[in-house]
Amino acid sequence: MTAKQVFSSFLDLVFPCSCIGCGKEGIWLCAKCFDSIPTILANHCPFCEKKTLFGNTCDDCKNHHFLDGAISAIPYSNELVLSMIHSWKYDSVHQMTEYLARFVSQSVFRAQRRVKMRAQKFIEQGIQKTDINSFGSIPAILANMDILLQPIPLHPKKEKERGFNQAYALAKYIAQNFKTFHIIDIVERAKKTTAQATLSGTDRTINISNAFALNQKISVKHKHIVLVDDVITTASTSDECARLLKNAGCTSVWALTIAYGHPIKA
Ligand SMILES: [Zn+2]
Ligand SMILES: [Zn+2]
Repeated sequence: MTAKQVFSSFLDLVFPCSCIGCGKEGIWLCAKCFDSIPTILANHCPFCEKKTLFGNTCDDCKNHHFLDGAISAIPYSNELVLSMIHSWKYDSVHQMTEYLARFVSQSVFRAQRRVKMRAQKFIEQGIQKTDINSFGSIPAILANMDILLQPIPLHPKKEKERGFNQAYALAKYIAQNFKTFHIIDIVERAKKTTAQATLSGTDRTINISNAFALNQKISVKHKHIVLVDDVITTASTSDECARLLKNAGCTSVWALTIAYGHPIKA
């Protein structure tokens, strides 16, 4: 336990928690506020925002990007989600991890159900089960296939400052909800970068290029990888990781995040 975490536990004892949405005492997020968060899974290309079925990267962007798509549970503009992420990341309210992971898991479950129903329709129409995945490029994560969850790593120095890596914490909780999800630790930070939130589009791509390296001890050949992070904005971080992973022989690389859109500057 870091000094920051000890201090945070001490604060919990002195000042009991209250719901971040309505202020109800004794809970970080009450059931009523949790249920009030609308699920609007991103259904657009993560690079140009053209409408696509599951958040797949569109055919045009596929020509100059590596990420196959992004599954995100909610727009970042939702006030409640915004406060949850903020208190989680910047005020180190670790209890938020469980709520946010539950929220992402529920969104994935719902999407998996929709894909299953769609597949059922295809089967009823006489299309072979083995051919279904080729329709509309269904991401492996929604087709209930084995996937490897790779949290986006923080630079060790930044992780020490913050006390935890939010992407690892989130991935750990999400993985507990799915039998087919396995966490891996193959991507590592190779250099310290400027916080992406402080930069605009092209600068983000330059800032993040060669920021990661692969730990070659694990083979990812022919595997489906899902990169986990809290928010996806320009997708340049995920795309840079996807570039490395695709070069190492991965079949597909998707991103899975709580929110999509533009976060406030920290
Ligand atoms: Zn509440
Ligand atoms: Zn696009």
